[in-house]
Amino acid sequence: MIVFVHRKDLRIADMPAFTYISRKGSKSLHLFVLDPVILSERRTEAASGRHFMAMLARLQELYRREGAKLNVVYGAPEEIIPQAALLHEACEVVVHRDDTPYARQRDGKLEKTLWRLGIPLTVLSDQPLAEPDEFHRYAGRQTPYKVFTPYYRKWSEFVRDTFQPPSAVSLRQLTTASLHESLADAYRSPFRIEPLPNEESMTEPERALGAFVGSKLSDYADRRDWYATDATSGLSAYINTGAISIRTVYESMLEGETYEAWRRQLAWRDFYLYQSALDPLFFRYERHFDLSILSDRHVDAWSRAETGIPIIDAAMTQLNETGRMPNRLRMVTAMFLTKNLLAPFPFGESLFRHRLADADNVLNRGGWLWSASLGFDAAPYFRIMNPESQSRQWDPAGEYIRRWLPQLRAFSDRDIHRPLPHAIVDLKASRARAIDVYKQILSSAGAMQREVDEKEPEPGSAL
Ligand SMILES: Cc1cc2nc3c(=O)[nH]c(=O)nc-3n(C[C@H](O)[C@H](O)[C@H](O)COP(=O)(O)OP(=O)(O)OC[C@H]3O[C@@H](n4cnc5c(N)ncnc54)[C@H](O)[C@@H]3O)c2cc1C
Repeated sequence: MIVFVHRKDLRIADMPAFTYISRKGSKSLHLFVLDPVILSERRTEAASGRHFMAMLARLQELYRREGAKLNVVYGAPEEIIPQAALLHEACEVVVHRDDTPYARQRDGKLEKTLWRLGIPLTVLSDQPLAEPDEFHRYAGRQTPYKVFTPYYRKWSEFVRDTFQPPSAVSLRQLTTASLHESLADAYRSPFRIEPLPNEESMTEPERALGAFVGSKLSDYADRRDWYATDATSGLSAYINTGAISIRTVYESMLEGETYEAWRRQLAWRDFYLYQSALDPLFFRYERHFDLSILSDRHVDAWSRAETGIPIIDAAMTQLNETGRMPNRLRMVTAMFLTKNLLAPFPFGESLFRHRLADADNVLNRGGWLWSASLGFDAAPYFRIMNPESQSRQWDPAGEYIRRWLPQLRAFSDRDIHRPLPHAIVDLKASRARAIDVYKQILSSAGAMQREVDEKEPEPGSAL
């Protein structure tokens, strides 16, 4: 018997673990462990948690339709999984790799407990197109790439040479077992997993991919930043929960120059996954630099969409009401918070982590580090996006602002982008101050190093 534990891989197609188990010809016990740590902070009420639970409901239904058994339990994974492995006389536990500090801590504890029981933990790669360690060996470098462009060049070669199309092994080929009743009872979930509202929801990820490749991909390079028009794939929430595999996404893209822009975005995703695996500071920059000069004074106004800067308030309103925000506006709002409002980036990071339907700890941190000019290949500290100019450039008619802030509808196309009289900050003066402050912050690199070495990662900042 092999125990397999689903985590950020809520699907049944193209599962490296299924391929692995079918090769071994073993029976398998499939678990999903609802982890109280991850469900803390009222997660299931926020967009990030609601989307995750919807994808879990979809997974349960996919199993049911295949006549297979998915055992959903609630409790500490490092406590439940070894008990299940022992009770079912498993020879091995299999998971897909996850590289956040909490996941590493959790899997480290799990591996130790299993080791004591003589049961190995097998970790397979699933999330990236280029598995970080393998790619690092392929690149033959001493130190990781710090700049995206050379990384991307090598990444393109690597993916071209090693890409494996989606696996044809299906769940039907496996023989899945039911969890022993004593454990199922002891770890019964207090959370009700609501069934999906309709049949269409079952095929959402595949339909989103098909619709994008069929009608938007060819214009993506020109249209992606025009955020008032829905020109991007909208796939992130499915990719991040693993509801669709990254190989399925990549394979659907036809070869050719036209698709270069989208390929690059998939490579940015891998670049952040690579950093999370190979940059020891990735989840610790706030302790590497001295951010004590910054303050949370304006965080509430920013989060409630009450800054008086129309594009910022429109973007935050969309986030608060729908759990979505286009990429360009994530950059603009994040820079505004960290630079113009001089707030430490972890405040924004943690709010996005809660409120984004596609929240992903690695990509979210990557985006916040970039905006705060910290980490590999971040935005230069002196290049601060002006929200008003960004708004005029990418949505001259102010369509997006009118959609999310109907109270401004009557403004002319010219005036709608302007800061309102009660704006909490002057864009020009705050920009100049931010340049001085970030110069100081960047020169503090390493000042907090001793603390970094001494402290364990805190689950709150990097679940
Ligand atoms: C401050 C900030 C926070 C962010 N937080 C998240 C997050 O929590 N989860 C998340 O998935 N993305 C995050 N991003 C990256 C990006 O905004 C989203 O991936 C993108 O908006 C998703 O929309 P889409 O699926 O339509 O993307 P498309 O434009 O269709 O791109 C296809 C895929 O490429 C990847 N991708 C696209 N842009 C980026 C990028 N800038 N960085 C890394 N990967 C990218 C995503 O997997 C995306 O689904 C963040 C960016 C910033 C600036």
